[in-house]
Amino acid sequence: MASRVRRSTGIVLKSAREIELMRQAGRIVGQVLDRMEELVKPGVTTGELNEVAEKLISDAGGVALFKGVRTPHARIAFPAALCTSVNDEVVHGIPGDRCLREGDVVSIDCGVRLNGYCGDSARTFPVGRVNDRVGHLLDVTRRVLELAISRIREKCLWSEIAGEMQAFVEGHDLSVVRDFVGHGIGRDMHEDPKVPNYHDRAQKKSDFVLERGLVLAIEPMVNLGSARVQYARPDHWAVVTEDGSHSAHFEHTVAVTRDGGEILTWGDRR
Ligand code: MG
Ligand code: MG
Repeated sequence: MASRVRRSTGIVLKSAREIELMRQAGRIVGQVLDRMEELVKPGVTTGELNEVAEKLISDAGGVALFKGVRTPHARIAFPAALCTSVNDEVVHGIPGDRCLREGDVVSIDCGVRLNGYCGDSARTFPVGRVNDRVGHLLDVTRRVLELAISRIREKCLWSEIAGEMQAFVEGHDLSVVRDFVGHGIGRDMHEDPKVPNYHDRAQKKSDFVLERGLVLAIEPMVNLGSARVQYARPDHWAVVTEDGSHSAHFEHTVAVTRDGGEILTWGDRR
């Protein structure tokens, strides 16, 4: 799940023990997404995917983080364990009877709390074969997340990494969503700071230094067309691209360590 842009206030650094607990929560998230990768194919509904995810999470002793989340904007609390966002849906799609078709893409976002700590991760999957432009979108979005994680160093300013992410995406003729960003994460899904995937001067006040023990959910959302997004319906959750172009979303929960960024949301395979 992504969060709306707002100013940072305070940042909570995590101890090694807390990061280990987050690794355990994150492992369940990774396992769910690994299973989704196997299940996403033409003919499956997003509701069926969510049912499998809910069972995996509860069998592992975790709590689905997104279920019951409220936002001032939406009439209903978020009703599912997964966000499933298809094609022009950017984030926060609600699983249901929508049947995935050959050539679609589906962004699946999953969050789990275990023993009081959270993990949050997302991947966009192709449904069967997708066209070359859409394949390019998925490839660049996955790679820009990898790029960001590879750049993490203690004492680095986030804005340096965010600027590089933006340049990478725009250099591949795609655009970075501005209205939703990543976030700090720990005992709560959404903690400070806000973690944008782009950089401009107006953000100077909310910039932050990477410190050991900082844990971030880094989550680039990238569009084939313009960066502009809107709610699909005025009182609902799903966010779509304004121009109807496809969107992709990759996310990992990442700890800043002495050796760089450590991904906490792997399943049992990488
Ligand atoms: Mg998420
Ligand atoms: Mg998130």
